[in-house]
This record gives sequence, C-alpha cells and structure tokens, in this order.
Amino acid sequence: MATLTATPPRSQSITERMAELGHEEVLFCQDRVTGLRAIIAVHNTTLGPALGGTRMWPYASEAEALHDVLRLSRGMTYKSALAGLDLGGGKAVIIGDARTQKTEAMFRRFGRFVDSLNGRYITAEDVGMSTADMVNIRKETKHVAGLPEEMGGSGDPSPFTAYGVYCGMKAAAMKAFGKESLSGLKVAVQGAGNVGRHLIGHLVQEGAKVFLTDIHDDKLAAIKAEHAAVELVAPDAIYDVDMDIYSPCALGATVNDDTLPRLRCAVIAGAANNQLADEEVHGQAVMERGILYVPDFLINAGGIINCAWERKGYDRKAALTQTEGIHDTTLTILRMSAEEHIPTYLAANRMAEQRVRSMAEAGLAF
Ligand code: NAD
Repeated sequence: MATLTATPPRSQSITERMAELGHEEVLFCQDRVTGLRAIIAVHNTTLGPALGGTRMWPYASEAEALHDVLRLSRGMTYKSALAGLDLGGGKAVIIGDARTQKTEAMFRRFGRFVDSLNGRYITAEDVGMSTADMVNIRKETKHVAGLPEEMGGSGDPSPFTAYGVYCGMKAAAMKAFGKESLSGLKVAVQGAGNVGRHLIGHLVQEGAKVFLTDIHDDKLAAIKAEHAAVELVAPDAIYDVDMDIYSPCALGATVNDDTLPRLRCAVIAGAANNQLADEEVHGQAVMERGILYVPDFLINAGGIINCAWERKGYDRKAALTQTEGIHDTTLTILRMSAEEHIPTYLAANRMAEQRVRSMAEAGLAF
C-alpha cells in the first residue's frame, strides 16, 4: 500500500521530535477489543482548541502514522492562524484499512479518547472517514465539527473551500496579470472532485477558459455535461497545457522536480494540501521561475472557516464573508514575499507564527 508520507526520521525520540515541531501533547490510543489503534496530536492551542480531522489509513508502521499526524497537526495550526480563526492545530490518525476494518464500536471507543481531552482537541472528517463514522464518534463526544446539516452541523465544507480558492486565485491574478477578473485566463484544474467541481462553476461563470483532468471518467463526464466549454485532458497532460494558472485540486506533491519544468504558468492556486513536494526546495524553485504560488494552507482554508462558524452558532453568510478574506490575505502574503525576497510559503508561515506569538505575549492564549 502506498503511503501518504515521506519516510519518517528515525534518529529522534518522540519528545525530541515534538519539541522540534512545537507539539504540546500526543495521545496514543489503543483498544484490544475493538482493534482501535490511533494517535491524536495537539500541536498548539494558543489561539483556541486544536481542530483538525481524523484520517484512517493503513500505515505501514506506527512511526509512519506518527510522522503523518505530527506534520498534519502542525499544518492545522498555521492554517487556522492565517485564516484569523480562534482555533489551534490538531489532527488524529487511526491506523487501519478504511474498507475492511471499520466498526461502530471502534469509532465510539475513539470518540471516548477524543472526549478525554476535554475539548482541547476537536475532530472532523478527513481521508478514509465517512459521515457515518463521524456520527458514531459524536455518540461519545460533543467535540466533533463539520457534521451534516441535519445533525446541526455546517455540512459539506467543499463549496467554501472552492470559494476561498477562487478568491485567492483572483488576488494572485491581480498581481500577475494586473486585473482581478479571471475572464479570458486559461486555468488548468487537476481534480474534478468536490472542490474542483465547485471551483469550476466559479471559473466558468467568470469567463475563464478551463482545462480539466481527473482519473475518473464519470467525474469528467458530469462536469462536461454541466459546462460544455470545459476542455478535458489526460491526467499526465495537465502539466503541459498552455495555461496561465495551474490549480491542483486532487493530490499533494504535484509541484516537484518532474512537473516544474513543464508548468508554464504564472500562478499556482489550488485546494490540494501539501502541493510542494518539498516546501523549501520547491517553494524557492517556483519563486525563481517567477511563478506566484499561493500557499495551500492559506488558499484552502474556506472549509475550516465554515467549521469554525459551527462552533460560534452557524451563519452561512458570515462564513462566506470570512472566506472572502482569503483574497486580501493572499495580497498581503504576495506583497511580503516580493518586498522581502522570500518564497510565499515562508511569508505565510511567518505571518501565522507572528499571530500565534502576539496572542501568547498579550496573555490572550486560550
Ligand atoms: P475529492 O476526493 O472529492 O476529489 C479529488 C479528485 O481528484 C477526485 O475526483 C479524484 O478522482 C481526483 N484525482 C485523484 N488522483 C488524481 C490524479 N492523479 N490526477 C487527476 N485527478 C486525480 O477531494 P476534494 O474534497 O475535492 O479535495 C481536493 C483536494 O483539496 C484534496 O487534496 C483535499 O485534501 C484538499 N482539501 C479539500 C478540502 C475540502 O473542503 N474538501 C479542504 C481543504 C483541502
């Protein structure tokens, strides 16, 4: 089974690794009866409770699962900080095969572990999890976000994620092409899933020329039926399209040594997490090529913004308005990057770290 992660470092102890990445707490959970094996990582709760999804994946080793949860939980701290949310960063992983090993009892047992953190960690849906699984977790803890609307939740986050990507893309277009409108620009979208589908609606409406790829023909056909002008391309051909904007909305690590020389675009702006195969190497490389890369954890925050509103008392309009803020934050990050001659991911990291630090220094920590 392929893994979601790079090889974990072996030389450090767990607490050394936590110290290096800045984690507050890591909870290892096991239950012999249900077969549950899980890790919950609370990275930082300065701004608020640590919110982040639970991922179920058949990790090849415990070390790999730990590596993934530490990396993902840290990413959530940065995402929420940059989005201006009063939330910290956390994440959970369940080690197991989502196709064969799920039971109600396992998820309820997991829910008890989430509950034992007394709200310091709030879980949500991620890779390998379904709404039904979240409903089972919810039976044991109220610290669950992103539930369906009929259960009092905020529902599917992807329209909000897509809207945020659209807003961030417009900001980058302003910088790259001197105009806010995407009309007439060529946008290559990778992934016709939940986010890609909604994003294409915005792009087509604004008059962009959309190229689209997916590995599933039925998803492509559904979009083509709705938007006849969308041009379909083969999965590997997407990197060679004559485009202005590349929008990765499928997988991580698609900006890498192989694809970068092929990507003849001025902007990279998409929903996928961890788009840069190596943040430092490829963050620097896109800058050197004159490509404006809108950091993924900045531009794909619409979903978590929507989740955050669930906690305050759900207000769809307010969630959309806050998601629009991704536009101005993108402009700020692009300006910082240009003025300080640093890659955009680094500018975004610094802005997020500055917000966390200033709240802590002002005695305003959660
Ligand atoms: P999804 O699973 O609904 O869609 C992903 C699509 O990508 C699928 O249609 C799949 O067939 C396609 N795909 C997979 N491999 C591909 C390949 N090699 N080439 C082309 N297409 C391929 O997922 P989603 O909810 O639309 O999320 C898209 C991305 O955005 C993911 O990386 C996700 O982690 C990230 N993201 C999503 C949200 C959200 O609100 N849904 C929030 C933040 C980040």
